[in-house]
Amino acid sequence: MDLPTSVANKRLTAWLSPLDATLTENWGWGYSSHFGTLKAAPGINRAQPDRAASPSAPPKPARISVLSSRCCLRFGEESEPGMTARILDGTKIRDQIFAELKDEVRLLTAAGVRPGLAAVLVGENPASQLYVKSKIAACEEIGLSSALLTPPATVTTLELLAVIEDLNRDNNVDGILIQLPLPTHVDTKRILEAVDPAKDVDGFHPVNLGRLVSGRPGLVACTPAGCMEILRRNTIKIEGANAAVLGRSDIVGKPMALLLMHANATVTICHSKTRDLPEVLGRADIVVAAMGKAGFVQADWIKSATGGGPGAAVIDVGTNRVTDLREAEHLFRNFPDRLEKFRAKGSALAGDVHPDAINFAGALTPVPGGVGPMTITMLMSNTVKAARLRRASPKFSATQPAATAR
Ligand code: NAP
Repeated sequence: MDLPTSVANKRLTAWLSPLDATLTENWGWGYSSHFGTLKAAPGINRAQPDRAASPSAPPKPARISVLSSRCCLRFGEESEPGMTARILDGTKIRDQIFAELKDEVRLLTAAGVRPGLAAVLVGENPASQLYVKSKIAACEEIGLSSALLTPPATVTTLELLAVIEDLNRDNNVDGILIQLPLPTHVDTKRILEAVDPAKDVDGFHPVNLGRLVSGRPGLVACTPAGCMEILRRNTIKIEGANAAVLGRSDIVGKPMALLLMHANATVTICHSKTRDLPEVLGRADIVVAAMGKAGFVQADWIKSATGGGPGAAVIDVGTNRVTDLREAEHLFRNFPDRLEKFRAKGSALAGDVHPDAINFAGALTPVPGGVGPMTITMLMSNTVKAARLRRASPKFSATQPAATAR
């Protein structure tokens, strides 16, 4: 059995925390607590981050004739210490923030408020099941209460709206997560807009987007918020920097550009109609790539450390599963270990930035292990923040750590 899509409420009520029990009484659909009833379907592990393939160990290539002369020069110099990018390790930052959140959750719980996240997972999409499983596991790790609702794929928009309404009303639920994509017959926009903005821990609600535009406090989309944490916790100077954001989606590119602008960067937003991307990137001190195109950004488009500056800080949001051997050979031409792993597994994760950028950028997030771990981290951070803001009282205001002070 993969997910408990129809578990007897009676048994669940005995299992669950007060938050869980309240929810179980309200819905007859599949439901589980954070006690580990969610199991990955066979083969799901293929979607796990390919941690071992991290480019943290710099390649030792011979001169590469297919690259530009500037690139060859960098590779020629590569054996010299300090010529490769500083790795911006998202896993390390996740661990720091989790430790901070655990402390805050302990304080809140002791004061009578245990923050709770409710996840709604419609149907049985294996990738979605895996994502939700990771989110529930993260809740457990930091001490949040969690609840999982698993309506069948046949659920209607109206039925889902009723679920959201109940979650909105439940005082023990601080964060509501609707795992996307929803089935095509469901009106996704209407569902997302039905979530109480105070519980919108994904930061997708127009009210939260509006707050972000106007620079007012609110819940910010997790992936861009995670990118900002990576920059800040690595003390990368944002104020006055030229930043290029590649991609203008509502969930990554647009909020990312706004966050950088509010942090006083000068931001250029690029998209599929942008002319001369290399020219824009050549001026950028910070590059955020969120296009969904494996290795699209060429290494020698990025401002390098040669010429006295620190080289660009590159945040690679792209998470692309590569399954084509020729594409893998092109991407990992200087990373024999990664290529070998690709051959063994038949697939690998690659970012939007060509892995050779490690020899150009000043700092770089690896894929996997960079932005990826930060998205769930910021979901946890948003849930704690939502609990603090929504159920705020003077006794909680003293418990605001850096992780949720954004
Ligand atoms: P999306 O909605 O498909 O948006 C892609 C954006 O890239 C669009 O704005 C598109 O421009 C732009 N683009 C396409 N080709 C371009 C080009 N040649 N030059 C400049 N811009 C170009 O994707 P998304 O949801 O934002 O996600 C982007 C990537 O981030 C994906 O790989 C996704 O898997 C990854 N992601 C990762 C995480 C994580 O946790 N690590 C979270 C979210 C997303 P137009 O608007 O003109 O079409």
